[in-house]
Amino acid sequence: FLPRLVAALEEVDETYIMVKPDGVQRGLVGEVISRFEKKGFKLTGLKLFQCPRDLAEEHYKDLKAKPFFPKLIKYITSGPVVCMAWEGVGVVASARKLIGATDPLQAEPGTIRGDLAVQTGRNVVHGSDSPENGKREIGKAFDALLRYYHLLNLSDMITNLALWFKEGEICEWTPAVAQWLRE
Ligand code: UDP
Ligand code: MG
Repeated sequence: FLPRLVAALEEVDETYIMVKPDGVQRGLVGEVISRFEKKGFKLTGLKLFQCPRDLAEEHYKDLKAKPFFPKLIKYITSGPVVCMAWEGVGVVASARKLIGATDPLQAEPGTIRGDLAVQTGRNVVHGSDSPENGKREIGKAFDALLRYYHLLNLSDMITNLALWFKEGEICEWTPAVAQWLRE
C-alpha cells in the first residue's frame, strides 16, 4: 500500500485552516474565509464543530510539554471552531504567510493575525505548518488507505489518525475560474 499512500501524500498540496473559538465568537469567520478565497485557493472542506478535548490534545500533541498546553486545550475547546481544508500548489506555506506570526503583535499588518488580533493565546486562526501535517490534520491520505486496502481491523485506528475530517466530508470539485487562476 505504500506507493498508493505516497501518491496520496504527493498528489496535491492541502492545508488545514481553523478559525479558533475567539474568531467564531468575534464574528470573523467570513473575514478569514474571504482572505483564502480571494487569494485563489480552493475550499474542499468546511464545517462548524465543537472540538472534544482528546482531539485538541492529539492535534497539539507536539506542544504537550509546553507550560501553556493546558490553557491552549481550554482555549481550543471553549466554543465552536470552523474547520476548513484548502487546496492548491504551495498552499501550506502561503497560508502561513496569510495568517502571520504566532504572536499577533509581531505579525505583519495585512496578515490575519496582524490585522485582527493582539495576543498569542487569542490568535484567531490555525494553519498547518507542513504539507505532512496538512495531510494528517485533514485526513485524506488515510481515506485513500482505507479505500484501497480495506484494512478493516485497522480502520478505527487509521480513522483516528485523520484528525479533523471524516470520509465524505472532503469535496472534490473544479472551480469555474480555475483557468483564470493558473495558466
Ligand atoms: N500558543 C500560546 N502561547 C505560546 C505559544 C503558542 O498560547 O507561547 C498557542 C497559540 O494559540 C498558537 C498555538 O499555541 O497558535 C500553537 O502554537 P504554535 O507554536 O504551533 O503556533 P502556530 O503554528 O499556531 O503559529
Ligand atoms: Mg503550529
